[in-house]
Amino acid sequence: MERFGMTIGGEPRPGRTTFTTVDPYTGEPWAEVAEATEQDVADAVNAARAAFDGEWGAMPGRERARLLRRLGELISEAGDDLALCETRDNGKLLREMSGQLQALPAYYDYYAGLADKIEGRVVDTGRPDFFGYVSRAPVGVVAAILPWNSPLLLLTFKLAPALAAGCTVVAKPSEQAPVSILRLAELFERAGFPPGVFNTVSGASRQVGEWLVANPDVDRVSFTGSEVTGAAVASAAAQHLAPSTLELGGKSANIVFPDADLEAAANGLIAGIFAAAGQTCIAGSRALIHEEVYDEVVARVASRAATITMGDPKAPETEMGPICFPGQLDKIRGFVESARSDGATIRAGGGDRGMGGLFFEPTIITDVTNEAAVCQDEIFGPVLSVLRFKDEGEAVALANSSRYGLAAGIWTADVRRVFRMTKRLQVGTVWVNAYRTLNYAMPFGGVKNSGFGRENGTEGLGEYLEDKAVWIETTGNTRDPFVLG
Ligand code: NAD
Repeated sequence: MERFGMTIGGEPRPGRTTFTTVDPYTGEPWAEVAEATEQDVADAVNAARAAFDGEWGAMPGRERARLLRRLGELISEAGDDLALCETRDNGKLLREMSGQLQALPAYYDYYAGLADKIEGRVVDTGRPDFFGYVSRAPVGVVAAILPWNSPLLLLTFKLAPALAAGCTVVAKPSEQAPVSILRLAELFERAGFPPGVFNTVSGASRQVGEWLVANPDVDRVSFTGSEVTGAAVASAAAQHLAPSTLELGGKSANIVFPDADLEAAANGLIAGIFAAAGQTCIAGSRALIHEEVYDEVVARVASRAATITMGDPKAPETEMGPICFPGQLDKIRGFVESARSDGATIRAGGGDRGMGGLFFEPTIITDVTNEAAVCQDEIFGPVLSVLRFKDEGEAVALANSSRYGLAAGIWTADVRRVFRMTKRLQVGTVWVNAYRTLNYAMPFGGVKNSGFGRENGTEGLGEYLEDKAVWIETTGNTRDPFVLG
């Protein structure tokens, strides 16, 4: 078995004890990973603080930009290796993880481009005797807590803007898929970063994340994961009044109107829910289909679902790999079985196609209402629930009748409808005649229980900066000390 350790203050920290991660395809443990102690977590935060107060904190934006670009180059060189680590940890397709890795250097380049353009503004104070300006400063030490489904991509959404802003970071990868993030930390020294700018702490239990979030020297928490954990993390951070960015789950609606290109729409429904075996926060897990085209669209999606190739996530022909871990598979099965016993129709899939292991077929559920658990709760698996609607108003009402608000897709040829719908949908991202595209320059995040704050774009940089108002008295006069003014 291969062994992977943490990096704290630029030094490898193998951990006093270790835990193992299992390859979901083979079912075999493949990596032995360091288990952090409470002291390791404290050391990581202290190292991040020392770097922030030291060389890194004093470094001009142009220099930070150079290091970010260099890091992007090193990630590119190590891309194949890092992608394979992710596939072995989480079972997602190697070609999906490789695609994500190839995209990462552009995120570091984009934020490198912003690192030396962090500018404040001069403000008209309304007072001729005062000159006022606003400057922007890095928030300080950031705790980044990650899920297992796309470890390095989701870390990059946090790390690239945080570093561009001048912050330092302690990352806590998921216990299911920690390896690629631990490996990334090894590149920092080679890229020329001072020690302590990026630190990692790993562990099999929730405790490591809890220790990190509770540390009073953490200035901001940036969390990606489930709704319930997100609420716990935000409230733990609030105990020492650290703000949080939360990227949580979703139950996104993919909405098909009768004037849409139905072949493209069916393909978009497949991409929305069966890519990554549905283990993605932006999964289009509710299909809302207009009654005029309902039968045709469901038939198209069901016939394609039946031909999706399941198998080794490393094989180029595979379209769906296994589910990440047994608990997740049990959860998916539980949702499908309870829908079946409540009278829903399992229009496609519902089992493992006789493959065993952690496989679960692409599954389509019809004859349900929007109130059913399979339409309200995030399953995080390859399960599409289909609802029928009569008109635009009903489509909007169904889409918005969800406690989540991460994303939505609209399939239509009517440009006026696009404007009406995008305005009314309560979500952070809307795709029109497309689904599941992301880019470093486009802000990403949710409303309602899908979280708060934004990643990517200039908005993502703003999460790691604090505004400071400066008033400079210009006349030398004294004034009434008992009057605000
Ligand atoms: P999770 O909430 O179980 O765990 C996320 C991370 O939090 C892990 O590293 C875990 O160890 C840590 N953690 C758990 N309890 C903690 C605590 N009390 N304090 C601090 N840290 C703690 O999520 P998961 O199962 O790893 O990931 C799947 C979830 O992530 C899904 O709900 C999915 O929708 C969501 N997700 C959201 C986005 C997004 O950008 N909106 C992206 C990907 C995944």
